[in-house]
Amino acid sequence: MTAPSPGAGGAPAPLQAVYEGWRGVSEPVEGADLRVLSLGAGVQSTTLALMAAHGEIGPMPDAAIFADTGWEPRAVYEHLDWLSGGNVLPFPIVRVQGVNLRDQVIDRATRSHGRFITIPYFLQRGGMGRRQCTGEAKIEPIHQAVRALLGVPKGARATRYRVEQWIGISRDEIVRMKAARVPWITHRWPLIERRMTRRDCLAWLARHVYPEPPRSACIGCPYHRDDYWRRLQREDPDAFADAVAVDRAMRAGGPIRGMRQLEYMHRSCRPLDQVDFRSEAERGQLSFLDECDGLCGT
Ligand code: SF4
Repeated sequence: MTAPSPGAGGAPAPLQAVYEGWRGVSEPVEGADLRVLSLGAGVQSTTLALMAAHGEIGPMPDAAIFADTGWEPRAVYEHLDWLSGGNVLPFPIVRVQGVNLRDQVIDRATRSHGRFITIPYFLQRGGMGRRQCTGEAKIEPIHQAVRALLGVPKGARATRYRVEQWIGISRDEIVRMKAARVPWITHRWPLIERRMTRRDCLAWLARHVYPEPPRSACIGCPYHRDDYWRRLQREDPDAFADAVAVDRAMRAGGPIRGMRQLEYMHRSCRPLDQVDFRSEAERGQLSFLDECDGLCGT
C-alpha cells in the first residue's frame, strides 16, 4: 500500500483529493489472522469500538489495543475503565505500555547524559524538536501486542501473518492517514469508509445514549490548542499543575543534552504558567463570531 503523494511543491493536497487517493484502499483484509482496533479512547476510536459492538462495522475485531503513554488525563483512564467493564464491548481491551512519556521527560531533563526528549517541544530559537513519541509510546507497543496476540516468539518474524488494524481517523482528519510501518499489518479506516466526521461520531454516540469521550492525548503534548489548555486549567487543575511542573523541569538545568537550546511546552516559548489562556472574549476582545452577527465571513 502506498500513501497518496502530497500536492505540488510538497503542499498538502486538498482534502477531497486526499480522500480520492485512499478510496478503495480501506477495506476488510480477506482471511486476516487477526483484527485489532487501535484504541486511543477518544471520540473516534470509541465510536469505532461501539459501532463494531452494535454490528454496524465488521468483521468484529478480536481485540482493541490501548497503548498507554502514562501521561493521559484522569478522564481518559476513567473512560477506558468504563469501556473495559461490564458488557460494553464484546471483545477484550489489551492495555500495553512501551515508555512512560512523563517519566522520560523528567529523566532526560535531570540527567547530564542520555538522549533527547522524544516529544517535539518548541525550541527557543524557532521550530520544534524531533518527534519520536508516537513511535515509541504508541506504534511500537501496539506492534508488540499484536505479535503477542499472534503468539509470535520474541525475535521471530511475523511476516507470514496478515493483520488488519483499525484506526479511528474521521473524514475531517483524513490527512493523518498513513500506511502501516510493517508489511504484515494493513491499516483500515472504517470511519473514512463511511465518510464520518468527528461531529458524526458525536451524533452517533448521542443517538445511542453513550457518554461523550474525553480528548485523548498526553497531558504535556505540544500540539494542544489554547482552548484545550484553558479547559485543562479549569477542569483538571492537578493535570495542569503537572504540565506546568514538567514544563519547568525541562529548563531547570539549561538545555537538555543534545538539544543546545531550551524547550517549551507552549508554542509561545513562555513557561506554561505564564501563558494567558483566557479566551479573546474574556480578555475583552470579542471574537469575530461574537461580533459579526453571522453576516460576515460566512
Ligand atoms: S499525544 Fe502528543 S506527546 Fe503524546 S504521543 Fe501523541 S504526539 Fe506525542
